[in-house]
Amino acid sequence: MKLREKPLRVGIVGAGPAGATLACLLAREGVDAVFFDDGRRPDMVVGESLIPRLVTVFRRLGIEDKVAELGTYKPGVTWVFDEKDALELSFTAMRGVLPTYAYNVPRRPFDDLIHNTALEAGARFIPCNVKLEVGTTELGEKVPRLAAETVALVPDWKGRQPDLLVDASGRRRLFAKLLSIRAKIGDRSDVSHFAHYENCTMPMPAGQTVITRLKHGWSWRIPLRNALSVGVVFNKDHAKQYGDNAEAQLEAVIDQNKPLADACSQRKRITAVTTYANYQLISEHGHGDGWVSVGDSFGFVDPMLSPGLAMAMVSAEKLADIIVKTSPSRWEAAFQNYLDWFREMLVAWQDLVDMFYDGRIFALFRTGADMTALFPYPFLNTIQRHFEKNIAGMAGGGLTNHPYSKRLLKFMGRYGIYGHEPENYAVV
Ligand SMILES: Cc1cc2nc3c(=O)[nH]c(=O)nc-3n(C[C@H](O)[C@H](O)[C@H](O)COP(=O)(O)OP(=O)(O)OC[C@H]3O[C@@H](n4cnc5c(N)ncnc54)[C@H](O)[C@@H]3O)c2cc1C
Repeated sequence: MKLREKPLRVGIVGAGPAGATLACLLAREGVDAVFFDDGRRPDMVVGESLIPRLVTVFRRLGIEDKVAELGTYKPGVTWVFDEKDALELSFTAMRGVLPTYAYNVPRRPFDDLIHNTALEAGARFIPCNVKLEVGTTELGEKVPRLAAETVALVPDWKGRQPDLLVDASGRRRLFAKLLSIRAKIGDRSDVSHFAHYENCTMPMPAGQTVITRLKHGWSWRIPLRNALSVGVVFNKDHAKQYGDNAEAQLEAVIDQNKPLADACSQRKRITAVTTYANYQLISEHGHGDGWVSVGDSFGFVDPMLSPGLAMAMVSAEKLADIIVKTSPSRWEAAFQNYLDWFREMLVAWQDLVDMFYDGRIFALFRTGADMTALFPYPFLNTIQRHFEKNIAGMAGGGLTNHPYSKRLLKFMGRYGIYGHEPENYAVV
């Protein structure tokens, strides 16, 4: 849709998955989309395990075949909740709701792919550290503005601000910090170390991501084409018990957990260990006159269920549709609806993740397994399959905020657990 004779000018601060997806979709609609990035990304970036909801975004961007080439087909997720028991979730359970698979991807080539897709669509990229300043509208509202030195990097803007400025700066939350916008911070405050390894036993079925409950925290194993990505997430105080530095801590956790140690007994580390702070955050607001937030810059939740990239790219998709389909005079209401959706999705994800952390999901599955073994009636199997379909649909990103699925999970979490104490399965 070509909106006007003179294209709308949108400046996007940050060229991660959210910023690049937005730039691509806007440029395809004739918007003058300029995205900026300072290139300050570590060599190793987290976010390698994707969920089925993203496959629909890849199809819209026309890049699924390229994602498949650089990534690994991912049929589902297994949660190892103790040495003897695991919950294996196959994405086939979400047939009719979403694609029945996802991918695991190495982040650098994946991010380059989205970046190049945006360039091919006609978006302009400016490598720079964006400088911002606070402006004031006629109504006295404080808003972010590009500093003159950054505007000057786009000469044809002739010193004028773009029609819309988008914060896609990820956890740096540049606009929120500039305007002192508060945020709701989640309960957990963890640290995460990860690295890539060779010579490990790869999870089965091929491509399956494995989450393992640990004595302290949890770990991921994400099979990539040429390596296994292994990461641990735990409280900073617990981390210290495993060693003095990130490397020692990661290796000690692997050695001290039997399923991990068995899979990685011959391991050879082929990258440096990279550390991230892990917490949850939702901004109190994320738009104003001439600006709006997308991706992590507005909010993010715990990564145990891998919602990060899906939220980043789906929020970019939604925002692009609003920008091109809504007249700028009605952006304010449309942005408010978009951010209401965003906040509700983040809360729904966090509620789901909480049920994994507090052990209810595993207690429920143990109860289900007991019941079907004791009473092998077809209707119990049907109930179990129905429940699995809803959990898979929520974890895949298709039913995460669906009222029925949320009610079912809440009901089962309250009344469906017999003979098992959730705290015995909790992640501490
Ligand atoms: C421990 C951990 C594990 C995770 N695992 C997963 C997973 O398995 N799957 C998943 O989907 N997600 C995962 N995530 C989340 C995922 O990494 C993020 O949600 C995702 O990268 C967010 O994308 P984004 O585009 O919003 O932000 P980012 O990817 O952070 O991009 C922001 C960009 O803005 C740039 N920028 C910032 N400030 C400026 C400036 N002043 N000037 C110019 N550029 C600037 C940055 O350099 C960066 O390139 C994980 C997160 C953590 C912490």
